[in-house]
Amino acid sequence: MSPGGRTSRPTSWQLVLDPAACDGHGICALLFAERIGLDEWGSAAVRGGPFSGRVMLRRARRAVAACPAAALRLAVVPSAAPARPTAGAAPAGAHEQPQ
Ligand code: SF4
Repeated sequence: MSPGGRTSRPTSWQLVLDPAACDGHGICALLFAERIGLDEWGSAAVRGGPFSGRVMLRRARRAVAACPAAALRLAVVPSAAPARPTAGAAPAGAHEQPQ
């Protein structure tokens, strides 16, 4: 655990587009070309899955902030929790003995 009580799991983000709000200005695709393209009508098209890293997050935030139609937002993608054995379940690698 890090100072301040927060855990330091890596965080991922995903761009979420509201296609009904997109006016096709194209600014977002210029600012975050790694994840945003334009379709044949000039509307934004989000590509790829969740991303992480400071540089990618900074570009994503700039694209979201620059959208004049407020059609983009950033969503945090929860990191996968470590698998826990359920109550009564055999530990991984354990085998039942025949009776
Ligand atoms: S900047 Fe906004 S309105 Fe323009 S293409 Fe991107 S999402 Fe659509």
